[in-house]
Amino acid sequence: MSISTALSPDVLVIGAGPSGAIASALLVRKGYKVLVLEKEQFPRFSIGESLLPHCMQFVEEAGMLDAVKAGNFQFKNGAAFIYQDSYTEFDFTQKFSEGPGTTFQVQRAKFDKILADSAASQGVDVRYRHTITAVDVSGERPRVYYNDVRGQACTLEAKFLLDASGFGRVLPRLLNLEYPSEFPVRQSVFTHIEDNISADWFDRNKILVSVHPKHRDIWFWTIPFSNGICSLGVVAEPALLANYPEDLREKLKALVSEVPRLRDLLANATFGTPKLAEGGYNVDTRQITGYSANVKSLYGKHFALLGNAGEFLDPVFSSGVTIAMRSASMASKLVDRQLRGESVDWENDYAKPLVKGVDTFRTFVTGWYNESFQHIIFHDKQLDRVKGMIASVLAGYAWDVQNPYVAESQRRFNVLAEICKPDFVSA
Ligand SMILES: Cc1cc2nc3c(=O)[nH]c(=O)nc-3n(C[C@H](O)[C@H](O)[C@H](O)COP(=O)(O)OP(=O)(O)OC[C@H]3O[C@@H](n4cnc5c(N)ncnc54)[C@H](O)[C@@H]3O)c2cc1C
Repeated sequence: MSISTALSPDVLVIGAGPSGAIASALLVRKGYKVLVLEKEQFPRFSIGESLLPHCMQFVEEAGMLDAVKAGNFQFKNGAAFIYQDSYTEFDFTQKFSEGPGTTFQVQRAKFDKILADSAASQGVDVRYRHTITAVDVSGERPRVYYNDVRGQACTLEAKFLLDASGFGRVLPRLLNLEYPSEFPVRQSVFTHIEDNISADWFDRNKILVSVHPKHRDIWFWTIPFSNGICSLGVVAEPALLANYPEDLREKLKALVSEVPRLRDLLANATFGTPKLAEGGYNVDTRQITGYSANVKSLYGKHFALLGNAGEFLDPVFSSGVTIAMRSASMASKLVDRQLRGESVDWENDYAKPLVKGVDTFRTFVTGWYNESFQHIIFHDKQLDRVKGMIASVLAGYAWDVQNPYVAESQRRFNVLAEICKPDFVSA
């Protein structure tokens, strides 16, 4: 197998999802020759459909805002939560931090294609149905082995390698970088439905998160799109889900039927009809298990990990795409500096600052599953200022250290959780 010199990019990006598209566009805009090798043919299905406002800043930075706006996606301005008879909502425009307060809920097949097409129109060479199979990062230049669209084994070298392979986790697997997540294995079962929702209380501009009345660690998302279709999913530990029908659609329906408010909301919904077909395929019920993941290191001499190829916590606060795009924005600036001959401190300029925001989400995710965050959001007394600070994190501004719930995330959270505990008695 010879090394292709025809394809000798400055930067090779593995994967054309949100992190790959944003990073590649940012680098091509700085004048680099950027090649993206993507395993699938786009459009392809992906989970992760509710965006956070903070990610719009990276979409704009990468010159993709107009293309995304032209996609006519469902407007989103917040998140709503229900537990039994309690309803609470966060309006992201009332957040504490600076920055956009609204975003979209997106069919990822369409959204990811818009981003990748936009990167390509800016000069990125995006090649579909090219699968990375091996890498060698021991030499002066990272070398990548891949199968091209005809299944032919090929190899090429680049000056820098960005792994944006998401749940494919190419470099963590190939370079033995995998590190177990501290979160237990959870499973998600999800589908797209024709929702036929008529309830007045339901706000299509918000994601709805519903808590199971008996098992408070089981929760459901309802993410409306702009075309009468909703993404619907449930998250739980596999042992609990095993108690329900094996057929995935029946499993999801059975779980929904245990949450009266959600059951009533979706009383007229149609599951799994041909009308759901979009871009030539039907998103019927699917599952994904054990998606939480971590790595020993987010970078090496000539490579860095972006988005889900690095750490993925949990879907409950819809943070995945925002973290992916933020990592792409941060890493592309450092790649630029490194390729200009500067010495770059990837630990202090990439890993630590990126993980700072991930840690904010970690505090909230941990609090969700130990119920303390649920007590906070369903508490009957809500201070506007504190609510604005929490709304900021939920809107994706998990790196804004002006926000006390970011600067001292765990300590502030614990204090609030203590006050909102059901048996708390104020002095
Ligand atoms: C149940 C669930 C619900 C979620 N809900 C949300 C949500 O509402 N909002 C949100 O923001 N996030 C959500 N997420 C997270 C979200 O899916 C991811 O964080 C996001 O897609 C990460 O983007 P990425 O660019 O890192 O990777 P991806 O979007 O996964 O893109 C990676 C790309 O790399 C390609 N690839 C993989 N292997 C190879 C290979 N060997 N060679 C070449 N290409 C390869 C893949 O085909 C893919 O196109 C959810 C996750 C789960 C599990």
